[in-house]
Amino acid sequence: MDISEIINLEGETHSSYFNAVAPPIIQTSNFCFNTVEDMRKAIAGEFETPVYSRGNNPTLAILRKKLAALEHAEDCLVTASGCAAISSAALAFLKSGDHVVCMDKPYSWTRHLFSVILPRFGIETTYTDGRDAAKINAAVRKNTRLLYLESPNSWTFELQDLKEAAAIAKRFNLVTVADNSYCTPLLQNPLDFGIDLVVHSASKYLSGHSDVVAGVVCGKRELIKKIFENEYMTLGGIIAPFDAWLMLRGLRTLEVRLEKSSANAAIIADFLAGHEKVQGILYPGHPSFPQFELARRQMKGSSGLLTVVMKTADPGKVEKFCESLKYFRLAVSWGGYESLVMPAIGTYDPSEGTNGRLPVNMVRFYTGLENAEELIRDLERGLESV
Ligand SMILES: *Cc1c(COP(=O)(O)O)cnc(C)c1O
Repeated sequence: MDISEIINLEGETHSSYFNAVAPPIIQTSNFCFNTVEDMRKAIAGEFETPVYSRGNNPTLAILRKKLAALEHAEDCLVTASGCAAISSAALAFLKSGDHVVCMDKPYSWTRHLFSVILPRFGIETTYTDGRDAAKINAAVRKNTRLLYLESPNSWTFELQDLKEAAAIAKRFNLVTVADNSYCTPLLQNPLDFGIDLVVHSASKYLSGHSDVVAGVVCGKRELIKKIFENEYMTLGGIIAPFDAWLMLRGLRTLEVRLEKSSANAAIIADFLAGHEKVQGILYPGHPSFPQFELARRQMKGSSGLLTVVMKTADPGKVEKFCESLKYFRLAVSWGGYESLVMPAIGTYDPSEGTNGRLPVNMVRFYTGLENAEELIRDLERGLESV
């Protein structure tokens, strides 16, 4: 199935909803049955059948078909947030006494899961430099059960070689989970490299309009069913029918949005890399990126996030620069229509020291759908003020 077919047609049966072109929002908590036998069958097969909207809902079912197909997966679950997807996928395969290997510098709340929450249940995590497969291999212990990857990550963009990582995991019988939010399914499909489960923050490109918080976990049907019947139904981190519908609407334009956002990022990367007030940039699609070759091999392109290392390490100047921008709004998150800027010092007070934190002179940009020339003018003006 090509991407247009998935986005426009997959999962949609117009005749079952008055031939409406846009699928309906089935805003209901429960579904009724004519006979007790029908009810019994539905409850026994809740993974497939609508019974109660904590499990299945027809609006959500359309979305699930599309997202699974995009990620080359047999099935997927859509969750209340990216973090709900990540924590459900991880918890599904861990028990007390188990060990996790995780690449360095995962998303901040993923790190919190492994460093703070899971140790309460006797699960330990080793962080390792995921750029080096030998280091991943060396971090595996007898009780390791899960290998967690995020390639690239969303601040410094270190990649893991997904094929090599999956091969290591197969050798030690580990379950692999990869956060693919940066690439979206259009720029990278980790399952094709042998990864078991892909997770997304759908709050970013998949929804795409900065109006939904949601997540996705994709994989083989058997793994998805296991998560559905346990963590998904029990922890209850589900998405509401209206948010599922907003994400369906967002998906219609995923391809054009991603193309524009990525093209803008490439232009901005070139501009910033050559600017006298910039020490360097981090962007997987730029020839200066240390893992440029791996990015080219493993990804179909780079998306709209890039990080700049400024020459000045004066927090006041970095703050002034970020505050002076017009199109790049000062905000967390990314993947929407609007350009964003986020300085590392937006996450901590530099007067308390930088130990273990991102450097003071790091600033992350997300390029949205604006005109690239306007974005460059905005940056030029801002950099002049530094
Ligand atoms: C935002 C983000 C998450 C968390 O997703 P939420 O939808 O905010 O819960 C996880 N991973 C990455 C890479 C992200 O950027």
